[in-house]
Amino acid sequence: MFIFQFLLLLPPTLRCFSKFPFPQTASSLTRAFSQSTSMSINLHSHAFSGNPLLSKFPLPGNPLSPSAALEALNARISLNNTHSSPSPSFKVLPFRNGRPLASSSAGTGDSPPIWDLGWLGLDDLRGIFENSGAQLSVDLLVYLNSSSEDDAVYWAIDVSDKVPELGSNNAAGLCFVELRTLMVATDWSDLQLMGNLAIAGHAKALLEWHNFSRFCGHCGEKTVPMEAGRRKKCSNDSCKKRIYPRVDPVVIMLVIDRENDRALLAKRPMRIARLYTCLSGFTEPGESLEEAVRRETWEETGIEVGEVVYHSSQPWPVAPNSIPCQLMVGFFAYAKSLEITVDKTELEDAQWFSREDVRKALTFAKYKQAQRTAAEKVEQMCKGLEKNRSLASDLNVESADEQHASIVVPGPFAIAYHLISSWAFSDQNVVNGVECNSKNPSDL
Ligand SMILES: [Zn+2]
Repeated sequence: MFIFQFLLLLPPTLRCFSKFPFPQTASSLTRAFSQSTSMSINLHSHAFSGNPLLSKFPLPGNPLSPSAALEALNARISLNNTHSSPSPSFKVLPFRNGRPLASSSAGTGDSPPIWDLGWLGLDDLRGIFENSGAQLSVDLLVYLNSSSEDDAVYWAIDVSDKVPELGSNNAAGLCFVELRTLMVATDWSDLQLMGNLAIAGHAKALLEWHNFSRFCGHCGEKTVPMEAGRRKKCSNDSCKKRIYPRVDPVVIMLVIDRENDRALLAKRPMRIARLYTCLSGFTEPGESLEEAVRRETWEETGIEVGEVVYHSSQPWPVAPNSIPCQLMVGFFAYAKSLEITVDKTELEDAQWFSREDVRKALTFAKYKQAQRTAAEKVEQMCKGLEKNRSLASDLNVESADEQHASIVVPGPFAIAYHLISSWAFSDQNVVNGVECNSKNPSDL
């Protein structure tokens, strides 16, 4: 089954972390990143992982815990008390139709613009609701976590059918942007931005899960939030089923022909020409991940797989098919047979590619150019100069050097890139300006 993987991205310079709201967490991420310059896997390296708000949840009794924060939030909203204690501060990230509120600022020198998340204070949000004649209620807010360093609690809210003026007044420099666009616009070496991207991905996944779990699947009654929106339960007293946020595991595998030093890459029926990537598919109930790798590979290409070796995993909250969050679980899969029979209902093409061909695709891809294009698009949107078009139509994904590379492969924000590059360049740490924090398949 197809999982959409886009191309692109990444300049090499690290920017400072002056805007990062969680200095100690940022430091720990920095350490993790610097420690990963060897060929070991850096679990913070994948886009949408390394969320600084997910590293620790406060225990019950802590004033920043979900229950205590919810109580404080309830008091401030229901009492309309604007003069209450400023501690803790509440920061809310609004979403509209799955798009987070964002801003953009100029980069330094020749570097691309830098996007940021559009956090709003509680009083500002309440004012925006009041101006629109909408009611801000506690149940709309979903707890993301807190930060003791800045004494703040972070929330997300879906404002899709409310407060229409939010994001439309470009004087404020704020607009709602597709998460995929932000993903491509993110400088992969900027840990602050990578952390922000992960926060937005987590928030988007939680809000989408809330949207489609409004009714109990057992009795049909309405569900209500629990634990400040981190869980839900059925409102029917005779049912009371608990409902947990949904994660869908997807296997993604680079199938390797050891004998002939080739890798199997497939082209999905999509508009992005020349894009070849790893095979992938959802796991079935009752199936192990390794079994899913073998089954999907056989179904889509007729190749039989023997050994299956885990590589790394990546949260993927930007799938196009209304699934809140897939967990991409990456593997190397070693082929036992080599003859390809393409399932034309799933794939347009599948071929064995030599290591040399794959190296060319990685070497001549213009990831940095694509990142700049997306970052400039976000800047234009926040100025009100461009509408939110689909990503595929914006990006010149054919920008890879066709003279030197016959195919293009997904960019560094996709786990497919890391599977492919760690096989193709198993002897190098940096490829085309992108740091490879990946396991060498020859070491497995
Ligand atoms: Zn129920």
